Amino acid sequence: MGNHVWNDKKKFIWLLSVLLLVAFLVTSGISYKVAHDSLSQQIESNTLPLTSDNIYSEIQQDLLRPIFISSLMAQDTFVRDWTLNHEQEPEKLIRYLKEIQDKYDTVTSFFISEQSRNYYHSSGVLKKIQDVEPNDAWYFRVRSLPESEHYEINIDADTADRTKTTVFVNYKVFDFESKFIGVTGVGLAVEKVKALIELYQKRYNRRVFFTDRQGNVTLHGDEYDGANSLQASTGLEQLATRILTSPSAAFSYQRNGKTVYLNSRLVPEFKWYLVVEQEDAPQEQELLNTFWGNLALSLVVTIGILFISNMTLGRYQRKLEIMASTDKLTGAANRQVFEEYFHQALDKAKLSQTSISILLIDIDHFKKVNDSYGHSVGDLVLKTVTNLLRSQLKPQDILCRWGGEEFLVLLPEMDLSRAAELAERFRDSISQRELKVNGVHIAITVSIGVAEYQKLEPAEDLIKRADLALYQAKEAGRNQVVLNQ
Ligand code: GH3
Ligand code: MG
Ligand code: MG
Repeated sequence: MGNHVWNDKKKFIWLLSVLLLVAFLVTSGISYKVAHDSLSQQIESNTLPLTSDNIYSEIQQDLLRPIFISSLMAQDTFVRDWTLNHEQEPEKLIRYLKEIQDKYDTVTSFFISEQSRNYYHSSGVLKKIQDVEPNDAWYFRVRSLPESEHYEINIDADTADRTKTTVFVNYKVFDFESKFIGVTGVGLAVEKVKALIELYQKRYNRRVFFTDRQGNVTLHGDEYDGANSLQASTGLEQLATRILTSPSAAFSYQRNGKTVYLNSRLVPEFKWYLVVEQEDAPQEQELLNTFWGNLALSLVVTIGILFISNMTLGRYQRKLEIMASTDKLTGAANRQVFEEYFHQALDKAKLSQTSISILLIDIDHFKKVNDSYGHSVGDLVLKTVTNLLRSQLKPQDILCRWGGEEFLVLLPEMDLSRAAELAERFRDSISQRELKVNGVHIAITVSIGVAEYQKLEPAEDLIKRADLALYQAKEAGRNQVVLNQ
């Protein structure tokens, strides 16, 4: 019976812990997923586009200004008149170019005449453009641009200072009859744009770069560690066309086991794409920390609950076991428990070849006690007799309340004669004892049947023999001890 209760308890504790842990895991998991999804959503549709917008609007001014200036130069009647006038007094144009450069704070300003192929620069006539010279290829490219396109943007080393990277705006110049007469424009140092890109890269840990329509990376910060083209970027091989075929794109992809969020937009003036990327958000780590923190807390709570329930259950269990195994009134063992002990004691006696005896004790005329003094006095007498018996027993002896006013005593390692001696002592001490209950003296006697266990005898037979002896004691006038030989 004890084992059964123990298993039930174990099962209950297991079930409770599994239930609690699953519940905690599911709630933590769900809240993590919700937070993670909303963070991804936030980055993809909000944070990155906003960065892209900010960068675009800041760069736009810097990049559009040279286009605007170049356009003014190309429309300038002075430039056109001077060119049509056979480029006389070059210092006039040179002064004009210098004025532009100073006034608008550009890196360079230039004009190439189709007629003379002279490269005019704010510092003088630099050289003659030649179609065999690779460095001059840009001029011929601009000259052959379709009619609808008035300019091109080109990143190159400056002709005047080859150590500087410059964004050139090369603007076509036409005479008053729309005949092509040269190319003019200004150069913008990309340092300023680079600094802006780096600022975003550093402050927000985002990778910012530009690509041309073919996907080649054209402009990036100094700390850029990506590939030279979208097609060569890890994780983007398949996605490059998606960026290059739409004016704007937003998605996330996997790069080296990390989620990368990407936003791209076409900058129409340059026919470039501005790409902003961000690796796993820093908040992501916070979410994960919270998730693990929740789990750890859940574990602590679970362990706490288990500890408390285990203790409570243990206390209940012990209480139940005692309640189930002892008689409430006298505290002696009850009949069910006695049978368990009885069989154990018999097995032990068989093994050790020792004798074992039992006493069956019944109070004489107990009904009269109840009748004369009341049931509660009867209870007190039962308790007193129990205590009297118990006080004379050894720890290995077992006292059991067998029936209403009937007790069975199990005496291990005791043969019939010694058991009879003990029974006699019981009988004598009880009859000697004048019970005083509620100021009333009550004389009590008991009759006792004694039997010794015989080899291979069933337990019931042993009890039957003791019962027979008890019956004989009653028959013989009570207050006697009778042995069953
Ligand atoms: P005998 O000498 O033949 O044993 O006579 P007796 O009156 O003791 O035997 P009987 O079996 O006729 O009566 C036993 C009585 O014990 C009957 C019952 O009411 C009473 N009894 C049984 N259990 C309890 C109990 O827990 N408390 C009290 N007060 N009385 C009980
Ligand atoms: Mg009786
Ligand atoms: Mg009886």
